[in-house]
Amino acid sequence: MQDIALLTLHHKQSAVEGPLREAGFSVTTVSGFDTDSLGTFTGSVPRQGTQLEAAGTKARLATELSGMRFGLGSEGSFGPDPYTGMLEWAREVLACYDAETKRWIYALAQGPETNYRQITVHRWEDAARFAHAIGFPEHGLIVGKPGQDGFDKDCQDLESLENRVRQVLAHGPVWLETDMRAHRNPTRMRMIERCAGLLSQRLACHCPACASYGFGEETPIAGAPCESCGLATLATMAKKISCDVCGHEQRVELVTSVPASRCNYCNP
Ligand SMILES: [Zn+2]
Ligand SMILES: [Zn+2]
Repeated sequence: MQDIALLTLHHKQSAVEGPLREAGFSVTTVSGFDTDSLGTFTGSVPRQGTQLEAAGTKARLATELSGMRFGLGSEGSFGPDPYTGMLEWAREVLACYDAETKRWIYALAQGPETNYRQITVHRWEDAARFAHAIGFPEHGLIVGKPGQDGFDKDCQDLESLENRVRQVLAHGPVWLETDMRAHRNPTRMRMIERCAGLLSQRLACHCPACASYGFGEETPIAGAPCESCGLATLATMAKKISCDVCGHEQRVELVTSVPASRCNYCNP
């Protein structure tokens, strides 16, 4: 077993330790560092850089704070889905950093499995309906915005939520949002676990040429031929799997042709 350090405030180790054990890593948490200083979901601290960079930074910090060779960083993001923009969508990134070889390896899990939602309510009844819909109290609910009177992210049951919401309603409408911190969001925890499974598979895969761990960086290759006219389309035809250590590449064919509906010539 290799030790791997995880920088977290929000009990994410329970989601990642099982999958990573399969790849031969034992997860140790690093405390004493406020990951929220790197950015929070409620926007009280804006996040710097991209989601991958944020996860990568946490992974590197974990090695620095623990003195361990391997570090793990987790970063989630939530918003409209990339296809229609109409569904809520979750993206979880896990980064593994190897301080000895200075390599980063990333895994991404994404999908519509999220309760990410916000609402402004004028009556307790609407707040109660929202709380029920998002799975409160198993899923956390945040009342108000940081810095506002009555801001509360620690309501544990319907009674304390009602007291808090009614108290703030006395002064005007109330902003409610789902708590996306992992320990208050079981749906998010499951997505992190799925992401850890992907990272684990990647870490356990070795380059056929140089035997380095973490083989499997994928790049899609466009140009699948149209089944009707045979011209190359923009659709993905194959993927390239490459080793970031020695540069070894493998090409995996995915499709031999795509329907004419994907063709700019047959179906402009
Ligand atoms: Zn290699
Ligand atoms: Zn065609």
